[in-house]
Parts: sequence; C-alpha cells; structure tokens
Amino acid sequence: MATRADAIARVREHLNSGAFLAELGRRVGYRTESQNPGSGEALRAYLVDDLQPAFAALDFSTRLIESPSGKGPYLLADYREDASLPTVLTYGHGDVVDGMEGEWRDNLDPWKTTTKGERVYGRGTADNKGQHSINLAALRAVRETRGGKLGFNAKFIIETGEEIGSPDLRQVCEAHREELKADLFLASDGPRLSADRPTIFLGCRGGNRIHLDVNLREGGNHSGNWGGVLANPATILCNAIASLVDGKGRMKLDALKPPRISNAVRAALADVKIEPTADEPALAPDWGEEGLSPAATPFPDVPMPCCSSASSSAPNMKRSSTPCARICMVTAFRWWKSAARSVLRLRAPMLIVPG
Ligand SMILES: [Zn+2]
Repeated sequence: MATRADAIARVREHLNSGAFLAELGRRVGYRTESQNPGSGEALRAYLVDDLQPAFAALDFSTRLIESPSGKGPYLLADYREDASLPTVLTYGHGDVVDGMEGEWRDNLDPWKTTTKGERVYGRGTADNKGQHSINLAALRAVRETRGGKLGFNAKFIIETGEEIGSPDLRQVCEAHREELKADLFLASDGPRLSADRPTIFLGCRGGNRIHLDVNLREGGNHSGNWGGVLANPATILCNAIASLVDGKGRMKLDALKPPRISNAVRAALADVKIEPTADEPALAPDWGEEGLSPAATPFPDVPMPCCSSASSSAPNMKRSSTPCARICMVTAFRWWKSAARSVLRLRAPMLIVPG
C-alpha cells in the first residue's frame, strides 16, 4: 500500500539525485525581476516556458490570465481528479526582487543556483521559486506513490507581481472566484520561526501603507541664512512618528493596540520560539511591547509601524532648512493569534497522518 513514507522517500530521492536542484536552477535562470520594467518577457516566459509544461506533466490544465493593469501575467492551474474529493488551492509567485548582480557575497551569480554547505544561493531560491518548486515536487511524489492519482483535487495561482505589491491580485481573484474555489488554501510564501522547524500559520497578514509628507515650502534655503529659523519638516515628521511608537518599539496609542492576548494563546506559544541561526541577527530583548516574552512578542496582532524608507526630498542634503520630508510607514497587522491556535490544532492531526 502506498504510504506517506514512500512519498517522502521519493521526494528525498528527487532531492538527492540532483533533479530538484536542476529544476530550481532552471527556474532561477529566468530573470523575473518584477521591479525592473524590462522584465515583461522573462515574467511571461517563466509561466509559459517553464511552469505550464511542469503543470502539464502532472495533468493540470493551465490558463494564462493577463494582468488588468498591464503588469506581469498570472497562471491558473487546475487538476480535477474527482468532484467528491477535497480541493487544495496553492499560491506562488514567479517574480523576484532585483538580482543585484555583482553585489553578492563571493560574487555569486544571482541567476544561477550555487550550493555552499547546506545552503543553495540564487535569486528566488528562498522567495518564491524554491517554495512552489517544492510544492510541485511534493505533488509529483504523492502522485507517483499513489499510482498516478493525488487523492485530492489541486489548484494553483501563480502571479508575477508579488514583489511590486501584487497590483491586481484582488481583481484577478475576484474575477476568477469560481475557478479558485477550494476547501483549503495553503500559501507557501511566508516566514519560518526557525530554519529547522516547519511552520504553518493559520493567520493572515495585511498591511496599510501610509505615506506621511510634510511639505512646508517650495525649494530649499541655505542653512547659513535660514537654518534654525525655518521650521524643519524632518523634525516635525520625527515627532509625528514618535507620537505613535516610542524609541523601544512600543505602541503609544491605545487605539492601535490589540486586546490583551488570552492565556490559552500564551500557553500555545510557550514552546514556540524564534531561533535565529548563527548568521542571523540576535533578537533584541528590550524591544517591543512590555510584558511579553521575546518569543511571544511578534505573535499578538500588534500593528507594527515600521519605517521602510525615510528621506528628505531636498536636492541638497547639506541644507539644513529642507522644504519637505517624507516617510513611508507600513503598519503591518499580524494576526498571529490565530497562528498560535493553529499550532495547537495542527499538532494532533500531524501526529496521526498515516505513516
Ligand atoms: Zn514571496
């Protein structure tokens, strides 16, 4: 009888034989930088030349959807085994951030996979070509183990604009609501608590991007004449931020704070630890909300203002009396509370998966 262990053995063999890394390397070779306006062809080729045949090999039917806003296209893939079986929908993105060629450690090539020790380098290996390649490899292993059947129906939506903020993901999902219907949605595009701990979050995250601009006057004024007597927009802006969050990352507005997390959630988080590896930054013990352990700190649904960029738009930074200042704040709402519950809920089913 086909077992879970057989499927895992197949997937191990796929990895150990080098076949998986060859697949991933081929995908990393597509320069799918969505932030680069010249990448349109690569984004399309990634879906058409690489993923469509890969899905076809698993008996998925696929369909390319053009982006309503003229950005990179979407790929919908659908495999229906039996209408009575449950359907899993998976999300992935084929685009990557800027390759930053020439700036990698040891001059590594972002468009090739390079294995060093236990790590594989290459743009997209960790976000998100690696993840959807793993999901495809896993589906193939299950299918082979079960004699050409999955045992469930499966759907994928792959976009090519995640790194530019998924400009029309909502529109595409709304327009294809029926096609995307599923019993379970599993998106493989998020963080792990630690490298060696598989993590499933049942929550979701969202964010509000807020631009704060202080525009006081036209043009810049020389600091020798005007410094100290003209209001400084950067100072005003810093004070605006400081009224929301203090110098230790604690929220200052009660309206932005979540209700106290329950004891049940605290208990669920007791053994959930964020464990940076040796080359990752150590957690700051005195940062964030008071009264929460470092492990619990990121878990409650605290809106976290984080400054993604702060700049003076004055053309000459030496001028002390700059005319305007701008900051982009991402107020991220993280519903980790439900994630904690999922840790509880999922642990039991994971233990009874037939092996
Ligand atoms: Zn991603």
